[in-house]
Amino acid sequence: MDKARSDAYYIAFEKLVDSMTDHVSFSRDAVVSALKELCSILRIAKGVTEFYVSTAHEIAGDGEVLCDYDNGMGDTVVSKRRVVSKSGAVIKGTLYSSSKDKPLDDDEIRRADLVMRTVLSFVSRNRLSRAIVEMGYHDERGFRNHRAYVRFLEKLSAADELGGMVAAQFNLRRFNLINQDIGRHYGDIVMMNYYKLVDAAVSPSGGTVCRLGGDNFVTVFRKEHLSTVLEIFDGVPVSYDEAGTKHIYVSARSGLYEIPEDIIWEGEGTIMDKIIFASNAAKRSGESTIIFYDAKMINMRDKMMRVQSLFPEALRRGEFRAFYQPKVDISTGLIVGAEALCRWFHNGRLVPPNDFIPIFEQSTDICKLDMYMLEAVCRDIRRWLDSGRNAVRISVNFSRKNLVDIELTSHIIAILEKYSVPHDLIEVELTETTTDVEFRDLKRIVSSLQLAGICTSVDDFGMGYSSLNLIREIPWNVLKIDRCFLPAENDGDSSVTSLMYRYVVSMARAIGLECITEGVETMKQVDVLRDNNCMIAQGFFFDKPLPVEEFENRLDMMYYHIK
Ligand code: C2E
Ligand code: MG
Ligand code: MG
Repeated sequence: MDKARSDAYYIAFEKLVDSMTDHVSFSRDAVVSALKELCSILRIAKGVTEFYVSTAHEIAGDGEVLCDYDNGMGDTVVSKRRVVSKSGAVIKGTLYSSSKDKPLDDDEIRRADLVMRTVLSFVSRNRLSRAIVEMGYHDERGFRNHRAYVRFLEKLSAADELGGMVAAQFNLRRFNLINQDIGRHYGDIVMMNYYKLVDAAVSPSGGTVCRLGGDNFVTVFRKEHLSTVLEIFDGVPVSYDEAGTKHIYVSARSGLYEIPEDIIWEGEGTIMDKIIFASNAAKRSGESTIIFYDAKMINMRDKMMRVQSLFPEALRRGEFRAFYQPKVDISTGLIVGAEALCRWFHNGRLVPPNDFIPIFEQSTDICKLDMYMLEAVCRDIRRWLDSGRNAVRISVNFSRKNLVDIELTSHIIAILEKYSVPHDLIEVELTETTTDVEFRDLKRIVSSLQLAGICTSVDDFGMGYSSLNLIREIPWNVLKIDRCFLPAENDGDSSVTSLMYRYVVSMARAIGLECITEGVETMKQVDVLRDNNCMIAQGFFFDKPLPVEEFENRLDMMYYHIK
């Protein structure tokens, strides 16, 4: 190589190194231009570099081919190199000359090889650091992760594009059942394909979807795609075999937040807190599966937190009282029992149970309240017995939250013993269950109460998803039929409600369950009960839940006069 070419080579090589190491204003074009110059000086017709994440990717031909220079004449391989990095990535380089040109001499080949080694080390470092960055934003199964979501939101905020977007957290509905149905392997494919459906709907116009873990995802997208995304959440068939012929229906529960134009980004909580709050509300809610975050929810949350924080002090100060609603034998008018219902006297106001029971049910506070109520009832019964009053069986509501307490029965017995209350004067009301685990706990608890001679009743039967297994497999004493089962005045004898009511009562009686109907408000309804052989009633027709003194008057009276 003559001196002029050699000098030109050194100058071009320096340009290449400078352009590769210019971290401040790195330009791919500058690198490519220096390479072109070097190739022409060294009579290289074509230079190819390839990058594969792993050797498996290399075998499968699944990588990136960066053809940095090609003058269309390259047909003879001059030099070939293959480097495997510590992390298993493969970087390959191949240089070609033209058979129409004079063959390269050793000096040219040596210099060309040096250029290639420099390029390969640059590409490998560059690609690997990108791969590492990529890995940081993806989870082990290739889903974009939480970090990717936060970075995406940050970028939107920096570009002033966050306002007017919609953010959402969503959870695949009954995904454990999907896994059970088709197996975990196909379940994974379903999850990926559902993610891809959302991705295809939101990504092209500047949105994204990421996985938080399990079957929980987050997304953010432009408002104009809301209806498309909601359709996907509502339910779509998702394929799970390679051929795309087998499908399963997948839907999602979601909490959404329409980001206001004047949003101020104060870290990820600005968005995450709201969508998690709304999606928790969607999870709790029985029917609605799509909930939009709004300021009212915050008021609700504030109210919930206020009520929760008042609980310990209210309990200590004895603000909760037992009210009693009589249960009446409609054939005789005799008071045969009563249900204890909680009332909260707070700041001179009477708070109804629907305003606090659901809130206490969010934590184990409800269990403390139930035990407190049982104790208040036992204290009242003890007083009635001591004063020679006619005591009747009192039922006490126990939230399903108590079911996890393995010692529940012994805790109940301990309170009865403390006031020497005969076990047959207490009835425990429990509602239907929704899960298998709860069902097992319910069965265990009802059976042990039974052994202890304490009555049990299924409360609100017919209101949830009542299952006949519930009454077949669990040894209850009483079936409390919810008022929604009670035929309305305009229901004819052969209406579905009338027929169901009749059969539920006769079935309960046939298997030896006591049967009581709740929410009896009119004489006509008393007649319906009588016609259907349900002889015990509870409801406003007789009395509302009464303060203990008034209930004691009813006990003394013993009877209601029914026409
Ligand atoms: P529940 O156990 O089904 O109690 C019956 C509810 O129906 C009571 O509402 C009662 O006042 C109401 N009711 C009775 N007769 C009639 C009627 O003729 N018409 C109508 N429309 N309603 C009638 P309340 O007292 O507001 O209690 C609501 C719910 O709160 C109870 O439903 C029960 O689930 C819960 N609850 C009340 N006290 C306690 C408690 O100490 N512990 C637990 N865990 N839950 C309680
Ligand atoms: Mg009840
Ligand atoms: Mg009830």
